[in-house]
Amino acid sequence: MDAIVSLCRRRGFVFPSSEIYGGLGSTYDYGHYGVLMKNNIRSLWLQAMVQERDDIVALDSAIILNPRVWEASGHVGGFVDPLVDCRTCKLRFRADQLDQASCGRKPSKRPGETPDCDLTEARQFNLMFTTQVGALEDESSLAYLRPETAQGIFINFKNVLQLARRKPPFGIAQVGKSFRNEITPGNFLFRVREFEQMEMEYFVPPADAERWYRYWIDQRFDWYLAHGIREENLRKREHSAEERSHYSSGTTDIEYRYPIGWSELEGVANRGDYDLTQHTEHSGTKLEFVGEGGERYTPYVVEPAVSIERIFVAMLVDAYHEEVVAERDRTVLRLHPAIAPVKAAVLPLIPRSAEMVEKARGLYEHLRHVLAVEYDDSGQIGRRYRRQDEIGTPYALTIDEQTLADDTVTIRDRDSLAQERISIASAREHLLDRLAAPWRPPGPG
Ligand code: ATP
Repeated sequence: MDAIVSLCRRRGFVFPSSEIYGGLGSTYDYGHYGVLMKNNIRSLWLQAMVQERDDIVALDSAIILNPRVWEASGHVGGFVDPLVDCRTCKLRFRADQLDQASCGRKPSKRPGETPDCDLTEARQFNLMFTTQVGALEDESSLAYLRPETAQGIFINFKNVLQLARRKPPFGIAQVGKSFRNEITPGNFLFRVREFEQMEMEYFVPPADAERWYRYWIDQRFDWYLAHGIREENLRKREHSAEERSHYSSGTTDIEYRYPIGWSELEGVANRGDYDLTQHTEHSGTKLEFVGEGGERYTPYVVEPAVSIERIFVAMLVDAYHEEVVAERDRTVLRLHPAIAPVKAAVLPLIPRSAEMVEKARGLYEHLRHVLAVEYDDSGQIGRRYRRQDEIGTPYALTIDEQTLADDTVTIRDRDSLAQERISIASAREHLLDRLAAPWRPPGPG
């Protein structure tokens, strides 16, 4: 993980937030390449979930909702972690994760294992951030930053049913920031207090829920494979009955083999009719489906839920390679081309050559209308290649002496390092074709 964190910083993907003020625990800011890569993850998720489907529509609900939403959903009463404090080292731990924590005084020991440790009883701590709406600071103005995007979907169930003229099975997809006052955040972006969730609630006739639950587990698993994650680093883990939320009749984590070990990347849950029933009871608005023949029922919900952050880390970990090529060290991000922040770099071999620069700028202008491309004329060509390798750019187009004679350029492949000559006139189509071709990570993991 350290190598990834350091590359992210060095190449401007991700910075610790508020750094000039000493930072704020587990909060990060994204630089240029980080933003481009996050945008790619988000738009590929939306493409698979909304654009390429007839049965799913998009939604963007507010971050601050009526606080009664969170009473109905069970978050006010139940979105809690059990906490213990150590009176000696003053650190706070999750009571259910003491076996993974380190004692503040003796990091080789677990909290409670040394004679000096003095742990309190476990107390329940609500993970929702509170805020105030309006000028008055009293109970009546109390509100919450949403800890998940799903509830914004459930409370809009009736709107979508009526206005988007849908009937089960159908889904509503949403991407947006969620906030959790995590007690033990960390492991870079894996557990942060502010993250971008991508959730889809799929409403189905109750009798079909189990089938759709299996279907979405497979769909989401395959989405990761199609976007370059190595199969050996991905697995499905079904929760035991004790582990599941009380309303869920099935939950499966899609786990990734992070540097911290196998951990939840995405969760797929069969939530039954819990959410729609709760909001019906608390709001007095019936959230049910009424068919043309008059039959009525409360749909069951199957939910795939993930954060861009967990995908971002998984993709970087999967793509990161250090290798020796022609006796030189090379660090390369073998990202799927659709995920890579920059698709191609345009490089004049000799930056002092006005003719090469002119050709390169011309090609760059021609490409940038359709693709995220970068122009770079600073430093030795080898260094420029290495820079592009580190940010995962799949192709580099180099303008050299021969370009001036016959209007061809070399195209260098990040993964195979093979170089081929193509004409400038065909470069755009050539690149678009290569980028659209199926891609699997080369070589063993
Ligand atoms: P965990 O057990 O790891 O805390 P969770 O089971 O509480 O996760 P869910 O409530 O199911 O997570 O949230 C759905 C998804 O949102 C997770 O699969 C994960 O991708 C993402 N997610 C949840 N909490 C965080 C966080 N603090 N930082 C980044 N992503 C998160």
